[in-house]
Amino acid sequence: MSTTAAVPTVADVVAELERRYPPSWAEEWDRVGLVLGEPCALVRRILCVVDVVPETVAEALAAGVDMIIAHHPLLLRGVSTVAPTTYKGRIIHQLIKADVALYVAHTNADVAAPGVSDALAARLGLTDLRPLQPSRPGTPAAGEGRGAGRIGRLPQPMSLAELARHAAAVLPATAVGVRAAGAPDRTVRTIAVCGGAGDSFLADATAANVDAYLTSDLRHHAAGEHLATDGPALLDATHWATERPWLDDLAALLRSTPGVETLVSDLDTDPWTVHAASPSAGAPAVAHPVAENKEPDREG
Ligand SMILES: [Zn+2]
Repeated sequence: MSTTAAVPTVADVVAELERRYPPSWAEEWDRVGLVLGEPCALVRRILCVVDVVPETVAEALAAGVDMIIAHHPLLLRGVSTVAPTTYKGRIIHQLIKADVALYVAHTNADVAAPGVSDALAARLGLTDLRPLQPSRPGTPAAGEGRGAGRIGRLPQPMSLAELARHAAAVLPATAVGVRAAGAPDRTVRTIAVCGGAGDSFLADATAANVDAYLTSDLRHHAAGEHLATDGPALLDATHWATERPWLDDLAALLRSTPGVETLVSDLDTDPWTVHAASPSAGAPAVAHPVAENKEPDREG
């Protein structure tokens, strides 16, 4: 616990975060929690980011923050060096030298209620939310509406084409925007959403009998086969755009901690920076182009 009345420590902030997002709720393969930083260091200013990349680190240093809270783990797999001549080693050196702590809440924030997909659903105006894939009974995250993705109802029915425009308008702006798959005039009332790469939940979206499923990082074979087997229409936004809305919830949580100023990064960390529509595009082409699935479809 902090002995200073007004300013919390890294340990105080971590305790607050772990009340909302217990590390035991994270997937086994995930790596969440404090990555670097002295637990006793004081925290006056925090920056919330989706990705710890050179651009968001530069933003943190320029803003003079004491702590970064990130969604994606900086170090997910084993490393044998953090030399500053390596990409991640450079980031680690910059943060330690500037006394900036780093904390990660990833899949434990995904399954939390409210969690990452609740913030995404709220942007779209969805109501009557429930998990797309509830946390399995017997696991630490089970119960109380927790689980991956969310299913909800749109404020009013709209066509798939209208929904794509709506999503592009209410999600954080990106170069790529939102693309959709399915008949443009298909009426959508219920929709499943999943922040981040959600193609492992395509079957759950079909089983839930929703009209559309919005996520990111959808791939050719998985998406095509899903549509060919009468799955819901698909909307593919960018990874950052589907997870950035959660940073506002995170900041709201931290703003209840006295003595801390919390900032949210709006730097788009998607790799895609340019979008060009084909000159002949406009009319919907043929039905889904999946004829055969030549490669086995692997996750990862
Ligand atoms: Zn993600």
